[in-house]
Amino acid sequence: MKKLIIECRVNEYNTRERNRNVPWSTEEIARDAKSCRDAGAAIVHFHGRKHDGSPEHAYEPYRDTVLAIRGRSDILIHPTLGYVTLDASAEERLGNMRRMVEDGCAPDIAPMDMGSTNVSVLRDGRYLPESEERVYQNSTATLHYFADRLKEWQLKPYLQVWNLSFMREVAQFARLEWVAQPVFVEFVCTDNHCIGGHPGTPKGLQAFIDFLPSDIHVEWTVCNYGGNLFPLCAQALAQGGHVSIGLGDWDYRELGEPTNADLVDHVVRIAHEAGREVATPAEAREILGIA
Ligand code: ZN
Repeated sequence: MKKLIIECRVNEYNTRERNRNVPWSTEEIARDAKSCRDAGAAIVHFHGRKHDGSPEHAYEPYRDTVLAIRGRSDILIHPTLGYVTLDASAEERLGNMRRMVEDGCAPDIAPMDMGSTNVSVLRDGRYLPESEERVYQNSTATLHYFADRLKEWQLKPYLQVWNLSFMREVAQFARLEWVAQPVFVEFVCTDNHCIGGHPGTPKGLQAFIDFLPSDIHVEWTVCNYGGNLFPLCAQALAQGGHVSIGLGDWDYRELGEPTNADLVDHVVRIAHEAGREVATPAEAREILGIA
């Protein structure tokens, strides 16, 4: 069976309240990326964070983090666009990517969320009142602009699919050749954080898999934002999927107080039990069609 690509989602916007190992600074993220690579990860996904952990959107920390990661290992680099989505234009949202391309330090992969959804934050079963207006907006025009720029810049689009309508948009983009095949898709389960994605349950994941289009070459991975991904790993592995795990999504106190590399190590063990070898970054490039 094809090799397994492990991506580590090292921080997102997670706090250190329940796990002190969430990396924030450029140095911490780069060190974590190297440890994850050594443990078996082929891709690192990170969000810029200030020293107090609050979101960082400025260009320089993104550039510096990409350079620091690359200085330590060959892991494929997938930064977020930055959480500036509520009122920013498509051009602004790609601003950091454009500058990294122009400065000769482009990452390998860039994300596109293939539709719009409510992202009101859940806390203890209630909505945070200040988040009730929050909609993650991604119009077809915005996504078409992203697809054209990423093609021009030779960055691999990472197509995030929060529900089945997003998957239909992916298939449409592939048929129009706005994105090249194989398309790299992440199925986004959102267990407790918000309810914009599928539930992080076997049925939630299976619904995504059951609706994969038969005419498009899809390489898919799965995450569980706000939940434990391990209960879904065997299911993903058995059906040819890849795995995106990390302390950004969940603090994994079930395992003590693990590091990101510990989580990767755990996935590698599950993969070996399932008879799947783990892909190096070079092998992941080949599987995903990254130049
Ligand atoms: Zn992210």
